[in-house]
Amino acid sequence: MATCKKLSKLDLRSTIVHLNGLFSSQKTTKNFSLTQHSAWWSVHRGYFSGSTASPTKSPLIRSQHKPYKDNSFFCRLHPGAAPSVRSFLAQYTSSSSSSSASFLDLPVIKRPLIRYNPPGPPPPGQKHQTLTLYTITAIPEDELGDLRDAIFLRLVEYDITGRIYLAKDGINLHLCAPIQHVEALQSTLRDLVLDRFDHGLDGAIWNFSTEAPGERVFEKLKVMVKKQLVADGRLGQWSVTDAEAPQYLEPSEFHARLDQVGDKVLLIDMRNHFENEVGRFKTSVKMDCTTFKENMDLMDALLEGRDKKEEVLIVCTGGIRCSVSGRYLKQRGFTDVKMLKGGITSYGRYIKSNPGIPSHFIGKNFTFDGRRGERITEDVISSCHQCHAPNDHLTNCANVHCHLLFIQCPSCQEKWKHTCGPECRHTVETGTGPAASKPYDYHAQVRPGPLLAEVSKAA
Ligand SMILES: [Zn+2]
Ligand SMILES: [Zn+2]
Repeated sequence: MATCKKLSKLDLRSTIVHLNGLFSSQKTTKNFSLTQHSAWWSVHRGYFSGSTASPTKSPLIRSQHKPYKDNSFFCRLHPGAAPSVRSFLAQYTSSSSSSSASFLDLPVIKRPLIRYNPPGPPPPGQKHQTLTLYTITAIPEDELGDLRDAIFLRLVEYDITGRIYLAKDGINLHLCAPIQHVEALQSTLRDLVLDRFDHGLDGAIWNFSTEAPGERVFEKLKVMVKKQLVADGRLGQWSVTDAEAPQYLEPSEFHARLDQVGDKVLLIDMRNHFENEVGRFKTSVKMDCTTFKENMDLMDALLEGRDKKEEVLIVCTGGIRCSVSGRYLKQRGFTDVKMLKGGITSYGRYIKSNPGIPSHFIGKNFTFDGRRGERITEDVISSCHQCHAPNDHLTNCANVHCHLLFIQCPSCQEKWKHTCGPECRHTVETGTGPAASKPYDYHAQVRPGPLLAEVSKAA
């Protein structure tokens, strides 16, 4: 009996989608049939289940409906499985799966299945559009799971990557779609989400990248149900959907407002330190924080004791963090809260289409995708974390155990082999050393200073 060891690391739905492709291309063999519907039905219950066109024929995959040992489910590949299915599965097996006399055990992950890895790189020349969408609206909690599954299965068909968060207070997504599927993506989301739930006061905020369509910037698709649309550290203490929205200013109105008020009005940047390090509004208060929760705490401290009738301006990348924090401020009694509609992404588009206007924002707009940012002005306001030369290229350490987010100039990139310093370079070169067992921390982002000390020590 060949055992699949690596399959537990693989997303089951990717496998099913891939298997489905293999099945549909082999309809003529009449050995089996697994329809989209039956795949969907079986995933919904957390295990594979093959359905056959005729019940008298052997199923390709037999499922074990009872939990297996460690509480995971498993299923079996029938010896009669077609060679292409076998060879696809063979890459995940520790021993040969070609033996025709055995079943193939496939341990199945029990937690909700929400990830899709495209089977390979996109076709050469394929252009992709990066876009975001969010809306703050009440979605019944008991519908979230089904909604997640429905969105997931529709988007997988279009080879869309990125991430989608669903919560009882709305939807927030950041996706990358092949350009020929952008319309299908939009209508899918209108069908499944936007036309079904009340849009709230702000409607749906779409934001298309300011850069021309290009490469795929996300490796996989993730659709997740969250407790809160944006984790603000105040779960259960207030309700986003019950609070009043701040005033939304279009980029042109926001620009005009800044022209009028200069630095006389409080302008709060609701983004994290690594975002405001490479680009910001000239008069904004930079918040030295790593998470949105910390940012909210800092904002509370900043506004403590202030006149609640005083005007407060807020900005963020695409608007969602302001839609949340703006409502929070309104709920706390601040009466004049204005936010930049569509965020800095939208402002960047306004500046690019009006080249004569001097931008109030300088530098790069950090984005949470493979590009790590969109340039808005030519100003470089940060420096390399390893040599201090002016630079604003954010990168992740090439040592996958480290993955630290930091700023690196081209010459340090060469010198340190795309890593954050001597230990990680050693690991990348040799596969050994203390940095080979570094615990990976998704939130690790370096602040100016520490790396400079580390690399100068090594020099
Ligand atoms: Zn450098
Ligand atoms: Zn590193």
